[in-house]
Order: sequence, then C-alpha cells, then structure tokens
Amino acid sequence: MNTITLNNGVTMPQLGFGVWQVPDDEAEHAVSAALAAGYRSIDTAKLYQNEAGVGRAVRESGIPRDELFVTTKLWNDEHGYDRALRAFDASMERLGLDVLDLYLIHWPAPAQNKYVETWKALEKLYADGRVRAIGVSNFTVQALDRLLDEAEVVPAVNQIELHPQFAQDALRAYDSAHGIATEAWSPLGQGKGLLDEPVLTRIAAKHGRSPAQVVLRWHIQLGNIVIPKSVTPERIRENIDVFGFELDPGDMTEIAAMDADRRLGPDPATFG
Ligand code: NAD
Repeated sequence: MNTITLNNGVTMPQLGFGVWQVPDDEAEHAVSAALAAGYRSIDTAKLYQNEAGVGRAVRESGIPRDELFVTTKLWNDEHGYDRALRAFDASMERLGLDVLDLYLIHWPAPAQNKYVETWKALEKLYADGRVRAIGVSNFTVQALDRLLDEAEVVPAVNQIELHPQFAQDALRAYDSAHGIATEAWSPLGQGKGLLDEPVLTRIAAKHGRSPAQVVLRWHIQLGNIVIPKSVTPERIRENIDVFGFELDPGDMTEIAAMDADRRLGPDPATFG
C-alpha cells in the first residue's frame, strides 16, 4: 500500500475505505471485509452513525492498532470550542479507541462563523496527544485562507469532493502549495453514471481493468488520498487492487478532459 506523509510526519495509507451510508449493524461486517482485503485506513464520521460498528471491527480485527489509520469527523452541530471537545470525546467513546489518527471538521459551515474557534479545539486535542493529525473537510480556498491566518497548526488534510467530472484543480493546487494533503471523497463519483463513461470503459478495456480501478488509479497517480466505498466483497477487493498497473500520460490527459465542474454534493460555501 502506498502511503502519504502528512505535514507533521505522520504517514497515512493513500487508499482507504469509506463508510458513508453504511448502517451501524452492517459497518462492522463491511469494515471486517475491507481489513481482510488489505485496507488499513477507515473513514467514518459522527454523521454516519456507524462509529460504534467501525470501532468493533477495528478492535476485533487482531491487527495491531499502529498498523491501522482511523479518521472521524466533527458534525455541523458540534462547532464551537467546548462543543468540539465534547464531540471528540463522544466519538472516541463510540469508537472505543484511546487515540485517533485523524480528526476532521466535516464542513466549514461559514454561516455559523465558528470554524476558527472549532479549529482551536482540534489544536488542543492534537497538543494533548489525543489525535495524531488534524484536518478539515470541504474547506474552500476562502475558508482555508481565513483558517491559515489564525491557526497555529496547518491542517494535515483537506477532504473534498473530487472525481474525474469534478477535478478541483485549483483547490488541489492550493492545498499542495500549503502542505495540505488532498483527500478525495466520492472518488468514484458515487459509481452510477461516471463509471459508464465511454472514455473510462475504453481505457479500462485497454488495461484489462474495471472503470472503477481506472478512476482510482487516476487519483493515485495525481497524489490524492482516496476512500472508495462499497459493501460488496468483490468490489471491496477490486477497489484496493490498483497498485499493479499504471495509466500512461495519454490516459491521464483523456481523464483530465472529463472535468465538467459537476458537483454531486452540497456547496461548502453555503452548506451547514
Ligand atoms: P464513492 O465515489 O466511493 O462511490 C461509492 C459507490 O460506487 C458505491 O455505493 C457503489 O454503488 C459504487 N461502487 C463502488 N465500487 C464500485 C466498483 N468497483 N464498481 C462499480 N461500482 C462501484 O462514493 P461515496 O461513498 O460518496 O464516497 C466515498 C467515501 O467518502 C464515503 O463513504 C465517505 O467515507 C466519504 N465522504 C465524505 C464526505 C465529506 O463531506 N467529507 C462526503 C461524502 C463521502
């Protein structure tokens, strides 16, 4: 598994397993299947209501804790300094873990105007050794500019919507210029539609791979961290099997040309 070294020296697997929309009672099973397939990084959130199931799978896997990387996120109703500290404790209680690997502010929620204060709480958790790295999610250039002005710790990660039809070149460049790793959510564009695109099916056939593998390989070659989601064991295995082939520069150019500014999720400038 490739790893990405974050701006504080912590290493993170470049490919992990996302569990949005996986109910808690299925999460344990899905995460166990992912761990058996070789995934070592799991992406959950308070919002997903499956931290308990994720925690059970992690604790019962028998895999040494220091070989696993667990991310969770603070939800929009948990902004504010004291609330954020309490939110972290509650997430850790559900996960059943002593130390978290990565804690993210899920959305900047600019209308609440509390993300700087919230970040101060994450800095405190980091200084206290309760989390190995802190970061943000869905932060725009505008929100990052303001955060970086007031922050002591530069976010290690910005987890954003990113797939071939929403390639986020400007935000990726901003992250990279500031030492922030870009992590792609909905890396497969949520599957439907994107994976049937003729460009992708043609490149996939050429390499004897699936369109999903081609898209994940595109992310890996761009340097993105990716967290594809599936609850189907064959797809869980397929999605991690992307380190044994390479897209050529022509493939990368063709996929880059698919960018259509097609956002699937909410707009971070107004959401939350
Ligand atoms: P995704 O792009 O990973 O797509 C998942 C869907 O694609 C699956 O439900 C399935 O229908 C299909 N799929 C998966 N593997 C496939 C394969 N090999 N072949 C064909 N189809 C396949 O979408 P996602 O779940 O939205 O995003 C991944 C993860 O990102 C989430 O689980 C979550 O952890 C994270 N996320 C974060 C945010 C955020 O705001 N920070 C928002 C959305 C998602």
